[in-house]
Amino acid sequence: MADNDYMALLDRAKEVLPETIENHERFELPELDILQEGKTTVFRNFIDVTDKLRRGPQHLLQFLLKELGTPGNIEGRRVVFKAKISSLTINEKIQTYTETYVICSECGLPDTKIVKEDRTLILECEACGARRSINVRKASKSDSQNIIRVGDIIEILISDVGKKGDGMGKCMDYIVVVPGTARGNTVRVKITNLSGKTAFGLVTAEPATR
Ligand SMILES: [Zn+2]
Repeated sequence: MADNDYMALLDRAKEVLPETIENHERFELPELDILQEGKTTVFRNFIDVTDKLRRGPQHLLQFLLKELGTPGNIEGRRVVFKAKISSLTINEKIQTYTETYVICSECGLPDTKIVKEDRTLILECEACGARRSINVRKASKSDSQNIIRVGDIIEILISDVGKKGDGMGKCMDYIVVVPGTARGNTVRVKITNLSGKTAFGLVTAEPATR
């Protein structure tokens, strides 16, 4: 087929395609604009996110601070966390928040509001009328202090070597596996993966987050 025939075909294909493929597209958050500045993490479009979710900035902020176990403040339209936190981790927390406090589990739309009945929080959908109680995972203080999360940066002593030659150390009640380290090394490790009480990480030059 000649080139211009092909181009003509392509033009025609574009004409017959609907302009927007779907009207009821899945709810999507704005892309999070997060950057690390020294020992802090700046979430630059925080208010854009709470606007889109139609939730109070303080509500989301308190959720994030508790989940991330770090102090932080709203400054203008931004939030500044007083620790280095990966944007992946923040993304995951916002997903959890959205699923817990915003998205209707019946119709999947975010057009909901939180109402309080007795002591129960109910998520009420303005689009389809569905109601569900909000099940807040209660992380007790001791829990959040004793949990390693992906993205955490910890300092450990490599006290052992596994069968495959990877260095291993202990942190709280976790075994942390760190390839490329030797017994006796003290290393800073960024956690990349978790499986039960086994954590996997890589040596990093970034400062420890906990
Ligand atoms: Zn609904």
